[in-house]
Amino acid sequence: MSASSSDKVAVVGGGLGGLSAAAVLAARGADVVLFERNEWLGGKAAELRLDGYRFDMGPTIMMLPSAWRRVFAAAGRRLEDEVELVRLDPQWRCFYPDRSTLDLWAGRERMVEELEAFAPGSAPGYERFLDHSERLNRLAHDYFFYKPIGSLWDVVRHKGLSVSTLGDVMSMGAGRTVAGTVRGHVPDPRVAQMLDHFTQYVGSAPDASPAVLCGIAHMQTDEGVWYPVGGIRALVEALIRLLRDLGVELRTGVGVRRIEVEGQRVTGLVTEAGERVPLAGAVCNADVVRAHQDLLAGVETGALTRRYEAACSGVVLYLGLRERYEHLLHHNFVFSEDPEAEFEDIYRRKRPAEDLTAYLCAPAQSDPGVAPAGGEALYVLVHAPALSEGVDWDEVFPAYRQRILDKLKTQAGLEDLEERIVCEQALTPASIHSRYKVLDGAIYGLASHGRFMGAFKPSNVPSGVSGLTFAGGSAHPGPGMPMVVMSGWIAGDALARQLEGALAPAPLVAAS
Ligand SMILES: Cc1cc2nc3c(=O)[nH]c(=O)nc-3n(C[C@H](O)[C@H](O)[C@H](O)COP(=O)(O)OP(=O)(O)OC[C@H]3O[C@@H](n4cnc5c(N)ncnc54)[C@H](O)[C@@H]3O)c2cc1C
Repeated sequence: MSASSSDKVAVVGGGLGGLSAAAVLAARGADVVLFERNEWLGGKAAELRLDGYRFDMGPTIMMLPSAWRRVFAAAGRRLEDEVELVRLDPQWRCFYPDRSTLDLWAGRERMVEELEAFAPGSAPGYERFLDHSERLNRLAHDYFFYKPIGSLWDVVRHKGLSVSTLGDVMSMGAGRTVAGTVRGHVPDPRVAQMLDHFTQYVGSAPDASPAVLCGIAHMQTDEGVWYPVGGIRALVEALIRLLRDLGVELRTGVGVRRIEVEGQRVTGLVTEAGERVPLAGAVCNADVVRAHQDLLAGVETGALTRRYEAACSGVVLYLGLRERYEHLLHHNFVFSEDPEAEFEDIYRRKRPAEDLTAYLCAPAQSDPGVAPAGGEALYVLVHAPALSEGVDWDEVFPAYRQRILDKLKTQAGLEDLEERIVCEQALTPASIHSRYKVLDGAIYGLASHGRFMGAFKPSNVPSGVSGLTFAGGSAHPGPGMPMVVMSGWIAGDALARQLEGALAPAPLVAAS
């Protein structure tokens, strides 16, 4: 198919989306070279080693192992042979401002018991919500997963226009929000706050996100929450091993300045150092909106069909503690007093939330090796607005750090937290922005805002350029590791199909 003199395929960016796409392409016989401007692979799934402590710097919650299985299966491998996975149940512990706590269990019966003790009368509504969530998750599987989708039109194109398609689209709750749907089932404000929080996996406000995202609750209870022994980094290392075995050329420390398009097809790329590499095709794992501003400037790809907004950013504290807290679970949420005010600050007023929610990861609970004996590599994430004028993070950070620590001391029982800290580092939206080259410091790509269109991200396969596909949190099906890995699978599969003839047929192995 190539107008270029090369059969080589490039992947631009070595985040989870890029690594997954490279694996799928190489497994199908493509000659793949991957360019990553940073010195490490994995993008946001990076690792920090500090004075004997080991931190995952970005993602910590692993769900939907099936998405990872599918990428490994593309190369005839089993995820479980590559990484040891430990199931976490309860999945989270929630700490509320009234000092009550609630554990989220995967099993329905166990959760119903917990809820009846915590907020009597709320269990039937929770069960109805889970039934609804299960239906939405099934529809997401049918209509959104493992297909390049960018709009309602793409949905119709893939499934065909029929009464049943229209019925399914209507039952996704078009026009309704997550917050409205949750409250329609669960009146207790604390339980509703917990269920709302699934939209934080995609960095979006529950009262602006489409109801179909309520399906995340069932994804998590159904396939579970997992800890890969060695941390999320162990998953990245497994992918890198796979790429090496498949013969992918990994070029770290090499940024790409431009993807060249001639006659509406990809013909090559130019690195930041000025090297020209002829290509038959490329997967772009850089943020889709930013890629159109720099890498593809002036090219009409057809991928950006509307105005997109960055998802939220965050402040992350990496705290090496000399002694761990036994009352924490591996994953914990310390909730705000007033979620509406919190989301108003983050998503509309674009300022650090005064009344904040903190996510705590205490991995020594499952893997004591992350810290010196008896210690904890405590990770604290507080969502913050995407970069906006008016917030100077160098100025704001010291006081905000203290606000976060005070919250943990008073609400989560970490009274002597400051005395236990032996080493520390942090990221702010400003440092996230420059470190990962994302849109406005976003940690989850593009926001899912919009009652009707919020679920749609730019398609992995742009209509206006052949030999080009998109993988990553700002492309379909969206942010968060499982979706990003899935986007890599879609982008790799779609490009392999475009290059068909030169490449081997898709393997028949199907992962569950
Ligand atoms: C603090 C934090 C906490 C998170 N928590 C979770 C969680 O618990 N669970 C979860 O599922 N998800 C979580 N996420 C989200 C998850 O990490 C991301 O959705 C996912 O890792 C994004 O992968 P990606 O491939 O889209 O992009 P990235 O990881 O951003 O990778 C893109 C790569 O492309 C490179 N690149 C960009 N432009 C160029 C160029 N021109 N040339 C060469 N290279 C280029 C970048 O350097 C980068 O390495 C979290 C993210 C953060 C930051």
